[in-house]
Amino acid sequence: MADDDADFIVVATTRPETMFGDTAVAVNSKDNRYSEFVGRKIKLPLTDREIPIIADSVIDVEFGTGAVKVTPAHDMEDYLIGQRHQLEMLAVINGKGRMENVPIGYQGLKVAEARERVLADLQSRNLIVKKEDYTHKIPKCYRCSATIELIPSLQWFVKMNDLAKKAIDPVIEGKIKFYPKRWEKAYIDWLGQARDWCISRQIWWGHRLPVWFCEKESDKYFISIKKPAKCEICNNCEPRQSEDVFDTWFSSALWPFAVMGWPKQTKDSMSFYPTNILSTARDIINLWVARMVFSAVELTGCVPFTDVIIHATVTTKDGKRMSKSLGTGIDPIEMVKKYGADSTRFGLSWQASESQDMRFGEGDIMAGKKFCNKIWNASRFVFQMIEGAEVISKDEPKPATMEDQLILSAFRKVSVNINESLCCFRFDQAIQEIYHFFWHQFCDIYIEKAKSQMKEPEISKNTKLVLAYILLGSLKILHPFMPFITEEIYQMFPIRSKEAIIIEDWPI
Ligand SMILES: [Zn+2]
Ligand SMILES: [Zn+2]
Repeated sequence: MADDDADFIVVATTRPETMFGDTAVAVNSKDNRYSEFVGRKIKLPLTDREIPIIADSVIDVEFGTGAVKVTPAHDMEDYLIGQRHQLEMLAVINGKGRMENVPIGYQGLKVAEARERVLADLQSRNLIVKKEDYTHKIPKCYRCSATIELIPSLQWFVKMNDLAKKAIDPVIEGKIKFYPKRWEKAYIDWLGQARDWCISRQIWWGHRLPVWFCEKESDKYFISIKKPAKCEICNNCEPRQSEDVFDTWFSSALWPFAVMGWPKQTKDSMSFYPTNILSTARDIINLWVARMVFSAVELTGCVPFTDVIIHATVTTKDGKRMSKSLGTGIDPIEMVKKYGADSTRFGLSWQASESQDMRFGEGDIMAGKKFCNKIWNASRFVFQMIEGAEVISKDEPKPATMEDQLILSAFRKVSVNINESLCCFRFDQAIQEIYHFFWHQFCDIYIEKAKSQMKEPEISKNTKLVLAYILLGSLKILHPFMPFITEEIYQMFPIRSKEAIIIEDWPI
């Protein structure tokens, strides 16, 4: 202790080298072992700098000795303690991962080297009570696995209170809907507790901050999109632009209107903004969706879209994340080469349910290929049967037989169901419904019946109309899921004045 050399406190730490940045020792206020020490000062070994002993309720009496060193500059928990007790922030690790503001013998050492030297020096002064293994979490770089050090730095923040409300309100009011709806809760919960948003980054790629610092009064700055003709602070210097760039999500948040030419009123923005549907993955609801919403409301006065589809994440067969570096990914191009684009699209749509993850199965893509063959063969068969038919009307034909009536009403029913599925973005339900209708009701039953109906002269003409009508309607419904094969068949369809199936009227 500063006031009595005989008194001392033992602390447990995994970071001996950051002791040079310690600005307090903290104990729990209810810990009787230390009550006589609180409020006094202690000499920090190796430097003899004096630091206070403070009491804070977050200190765990069970951890180590119940007394911990507090390094506000290099630990988040300690930073918060420092804020509560107005402790000094003393940074001892610099941006290059080397020691600074430390006694001369440690200056410039790498963190790991400094740790060894501090331990050796404490040892030689007989200041180490014991060493033991301790398992704990250390932040690592996701690219190179290097240890990440927290260091204090000057950053720019966006205040979140008002903006969070601007993003929450439209969802509560139903102006923006999530599909599946359960993601609305995740969105609102996150925004409800969002901390101020750090938008500056010290990397090279990105939009550079339009912030200019005065050369004479370096803590003063002004905003200018273009290189300013003169310094707005002193009127008499060459101002220096900040080298920081925006967080990539800050730029991405502007996307819905920035691409339309904002802040100008353009033909694009007038035609296409606000947009309607945003489709994305659940892991960027907070990073991207929420920020697009409040940026749009704040800067353009309206919500950027009305429907947010959170689609399932495709995982491997056994539920693992698909990743290029782990080699667990499946290249869709490979699937397209193997089974065709329509089959791949069919298989993925088939699996796209409301679940969070969708385990990728090649089986559904294989089924898609079989279905393509079925559509192709059935269409050729129908074309043979309707050959020589007069101009085929697009209107629903009148039924001449019981079978005609059954297939026409079944088609009406699936069309209505599919519309409902598509309106709530249940692509899996829609494709499964048209698949079963086409294969089982149209091919297995009606086409078979039609073969005999064609032999009866008085109903054969009407049968052709029903065949053509159901095939054409099915192709239209299938088109969004299997665009190539349906367009190909449509182009062979014996109807006058057609252009492309994509601009045909939807069946119902
Ligand atoms: Zn790294
Ligand atoms: Zn200036």
